[in-house]
This record gives sequence, structure tokens and C-alpha cells, in this order.
Amino acid sequence: MGNRPFYFWYKVVSLGYYPILVKLTQKNSKDCIQYQIPDNYSVETEVSKMKICCETKYQPNGKVRFTIVWKENKAEWSIYSDRSATSVVNTFLKKNNRPNSNLSGVYIFGFDIGRLHECRLETMGAPITLVNKKKRPLTTIQTISGQNKRFASLGRESGKAIRSLIKKHRLTDETDQPIVYIRKIELDFNGESIILTYKPPDNKNELAKIDAIVRACDESLLARDGYRRLAAVEAFLIREYLIANHRVEITNLINKDLRIGTFNIDKNDDDLSNNLESDDGIIVDEAEIGNGAYRSIYTILQTLIPLWKETSPAIINSGDTLKLKLGGDGRNVGRKQSHVMMTICLLNEGEEVLKPEHQHCICLYVGREKYEDLAKIGKLFQHQLFDLQNNGIYDKDGNHWPVELFFSGDWKFMYIIMGLNAPNSKYFCLYCNCQSELRWDMDQNFENSGNHACENRKPALFPAINQENYIPDELHLFLRIVDVLMECFFNDVIKKKEFEKKIKLEIEQTMQNIKVHFEFFKSRSTSGKWDWTSLMGPDKKKVLEYFPISQFISGIRGQEIEKLWKEFLRLYKVLRKPFLSDQEIDAFEIDTKQWIRTFYCATEGRPNSISHKPGLYRKQDVTPYMHVFAQHMHQFMRQLKMKNLSLRYFSTSSIEKKNHDQV
Ligand SMILES: [Zn+2]
Repeated sequence: MGNRPFYFWYKVVSLGYYPILVKLTQKNSKDCIQYQIPDNYSVETEVSKMKICCETKYQPNGKVRFTIVWKENKAEWSIYSDRSATSVVNTFLKKNNRPNSNLSGVYIFGFDIGRLHECRLETMGAPITLVNKKKRPLTTIQTISGQNKRFASLGRESGKAIRSLIKKHRLTDETDQPIVYIRKIELDFNGESIILTYKPPDNKNELAKIDAIVRACDESLLARDGYRRLAAVEAFLIREYLIANHRVEITNLINKDLRIGTFNIDKNDDDLSNNLESDDGIIVDEAEIGNGAYRSIYTILQTLIPLWKETSPAIINSGDTLKLKLGGDGRNVGRKQSHVMMTICLLNEGEEVLKPEHQHCICLYVGREKYEDLAKIGKLFQHQLFDLQNNGIYDKDGNHWPVELFFSGDWKFMYIIMGLNAPNSKYFCLYCNCQSELRWDMDQNFENSGNHACENRKPALFPAINQENYIPDELHLFLRIVDVLMECFFNDVIKKKEFEKKIKLEIEQTMQNIKVHFEFFKSRSTSGKWDWTSLMGPDKKKVLEYFPISQFISGIRGQEIEKLWKEFLRLYKVLRKPFLSDQEIDAFEIDTKQWIRTFYCATEGRPNSISHKPGLYRKQDVTPYMHVFAQHMHQFMRQLKMKNLSLRYFSTSSIEKKNHDQV
């Protein structure tokens, strides 16, 4: 434990706080360090193989009473000293027949444990210090950012001081927990109003915070890199804000430290109190797995609403509803770890929303996309989201903004947070009760009314979001349907005898001609079956548009498949249009259904007869994504059109990019 001469375990019963007139430990030699003595402090530890409890309490006369409590023969004993911790420790040793031992009260009481000290400063309040001569007078500071920094530091310190005063004046409950909190402090500076606002307190219990800090996890809560980058994103947000507004709010600087909350995804809330007994030495090497950081959506909105109001033309005007889209995505980082990030963005921004820097990270954790883990994230935001959805938000000028919440993510993320099953289950659909065997059926209409057929459906994780506002992600829809088209085509040609010697090379050459890097290779995982380069979105578009299928599949069938590919690309481009007329959407509905029918149509007429029309693929080749494409997209298009939105704003292409930037 640092330079401490011996080792102790500690269990923090009550962290205590530093009162305004804080007492220091005794000065026994010229160079010894004097530590601040907390009030209302209580720790359990061990001396001479006896479990003891060390407590401090400031007396009405201003002196500190140091008490040691221990159990012996089932009776509780206690002794105290109003002089020093060392004196009560030595009395204790004498009483227990160890008169010659001489232990430092500072160490036994743990006044030197830096982390407890920091924790008190952070969460409880610090004493007011003397004039800081190193700081220049405010009048000599010319730059606005310099002035802002000064206000921010004042804000931080006055926050601590007032929190401490709240304790002193016992604006608390019976257990001395404060029940009064600072909202804002208003200052006048050359006639200008400077408002320091403070984040409302966390409802998480105090023990949880102490636990986090004593365990020294605050620095290792997240893969260090991820945490630092999240903090960097935060700093960026604040810089951006200050530039745009020149002045106004110091809030964001003050909140800078507070706004990133941390949580341990591996821990249940109930476990927290069991982990207190630890010492400075515990920095668990595995602690990075499954930990995360989050930011308050309120605070992000309070920062951004003024920006959205003040850009010209304004993104939001009085009376508008803030259309907030939540998004989520997991990404592998190295072989063992993966990160999951959740973001929020304002759909009112239109096209701009697609830029990665317009996606604001609300949560990042090291772990996987699992129901149990995401459930904890859902809980974290549940209250805020319900409040936003039901009551909207007031900005700092007192304007009220109604809020509507949306969600978009890839299929996996969506089915997890909706509490549904994977796309290969019987009731696979995110939006309707369609059965797996009827995916191909285009003669029935499946309304977007939700999946109520899924037998073991779990509770949705973000229940504040309405069913109709889970919007499919057009990017994955496109990618996965093209995968099916390419696989169907390659399965046809791979069967041919001359594939390996001839066709394979011809296809690769043709891909090269249309500037797509593409190769066939023998897969190791599927025991020597042919596999091929998986292509990104832009390459897939090129392939649909330019790849001459009919050169590889002869006759009408080749031509039909080529048409099928081109038609899909055309429909996809319609789907991505920013504005659509009602007629275009009606046509889209008819055309997508027809497209699926063409995909699985049966062979007509006898081979070699005039009426012969070859079938393309089988009904069971129609995938869940294809069902959504033909049955649900037109409904979403109509519904979003009414809200002045379009599907392209829900693309996950930007969050994917952001997650990539992050890791
Ligand atoms: Zn469906």
C-alpha cells in the first residue's frame, strides 16, 4: 500500500467528509505529513489479529473524538480519545496486553489512504483554501476560454464547498445523506450573467461510488484507451459548444468531469457492498473486461439544444419535436475483446445526421451484444428515456421541446433489445407475426404491428421506444440481400465442371474489369468448399449494376437473373430517396413484392417449348431480410414520410464508422 510500512485490510463503513474547519493529524516531526481528518468516518480493520472498528466524530467543541470499537467474548467494547488517533490506538494495545507495541494512529485509522481522500474531495466537498497567488486576476485575462476556465474552476470548488455546507447544516436525512442539492449559481460579470449549473445527484447509492473508487477501478473501468477516447469525444463536444456560443455557459466545463458515469457491467447492484474490503493494491488485471462508461442524455441535450437553435438556418424551431434516434452496434477489438457502443442523434438534422460526428456516444462498454448486458444499459437509461418520451425537455431558456424516440441498429442488436428471437427462429420477424415457412408469401400483407407470436419473448430493453419506431437499417438490408443474390449465383456456377479451371478465373477477371477486388478461395472452416471475398457496400453496388450474369448463365435464366440484380439495385435506390411521393411508395410496394415473386417463381412450360420460362430460385431461399424488404419497408416509408423523415437517416453506416473510429 504505497510507502506504508505494513499491510492492512480495510472495510469502509462510512467514508466521512471533511468539514469546513477541518482538523489535521498531529505534527510529530518536522517533515511529517499532516492528513485531514474526516468527520463521521468509520472503517473496519485488524490489529493484533483482532477485528476493530475505527471511528471519528467531530465534537460540538470542535475537537475530534477518535474511537475504537471491538468485540470480545460476545460483548462490544469501545474506547476513545479526544487527543489523537495514536493515543486511542496505544490505549487499545495496552488493554489487550500489547503495551510495548507502538503503532501509528494515522495508519491504523487509514487517514493516509489517498483514494479515500480523493473520494471525499470528489463526492463530499473540499475545504475552502487560501488565495491562490499563482492565478492571475480575472481582469488581466483577455481570452474568453481563459475566463471560462476560471469560472469553471470556481464552479467546481464552490460546488464542493456548498455540498460540504449542506452536510454541516444537516440538510440531510437521518443517515446524514444530503437531501438538498445545488442547481445553479448565477454570477454577474460586467453586467453579463454567468450561470454555473450542476448535474443532479446520482441516485446510485453512496456505497457504490465508494466501491468504485476504493477499488481503484475508476482508471481501469474501461479498456483505458476506450475511456480516454470517450473523454476526448466529450472534450470535443465542449470545445465545439464554446466556439459556437462564444460564452454563455460554463456548465459544460463543470460537468465535464461529472458527465461521464462509469459502471461495471459484470456486477449486479446487489454485489457491490461485498466488494468493499479491499486495499489500494487491488487493480484487477481482468477488470477491463465488461466495464463501461456512459453519459447522461439530458446533459448532452442541454449542450446541443442551444447549438441546434442557433445555427442558421436553425435545425430546430420553437414547437418542433426533437426526433431522437438511438443506435447501437458491437464491434470486435482483437480476438478476445469487443466493444459495444450506443449513440444518440437528432433526426431533425436531416442529411447531416449521417456524419459520424453528429452521432453522440451515450454509452460504451467492453463486452458483447448480449441481452443480459444490454439489459443493464437499458436500466441505466430507462428513467431518462421515459421522462423524455413522456414529458420532453426544457432547455436553459425555459423552452419546452417534445421528444420522440426512435431506434435503429442491425438485426442482431434490434432483436436483442426488442426481446425477440434470432432471425432463424420460427417467429423471426421484428415487425409482425409471420412464420418462418411463409417468408416468401407475397399474397398476404403483414402489418407492422409487432411480433406477438414469439412464445418466449423477453421484455424490451428500451421500453420507452414505441414498436413502430424500431426502424430497419437499410444498409444491412442491402448488404444481406446482395449476399443472397451472389451466393445463389455462385452456387450455380460452382457446380459446373469447368469451374475451377475456367469459370473461376473468368469471374475474377470480370470483377477486375469493373474494378472490384474479388477472389474465390477454398474455405478451411467448411472443409474445402469454395468461398469468396466478402464485399463492402460500394463494391456490391458496382457488382449489381455492372456484372454481366448472362455471360455465365446462358439463356433466358441468365437474362432473368441479371434483371433481378438490376431491379434490386433500382428498388434500393428508391428506398434511399430523401423524398418520396405517395405514388412512388405505392409503386415500391408492388414492385418489391413482384421482385420476390420473380426470385422464387416456379418453372413454367415444358423445357425447349416456346412457353418455357425457367424458375430462378426456391421459396425457401427467401430470407428474413427479403421478407422485411418486401413486406415492411413500404409501411415504414409511409409512416416516416408523415413525420418528415426518410429511411436513409436511419442507416447505421455512420454509427459503424464511429465505432470504428473509437476503437
Ligand atoms: Zn414481418
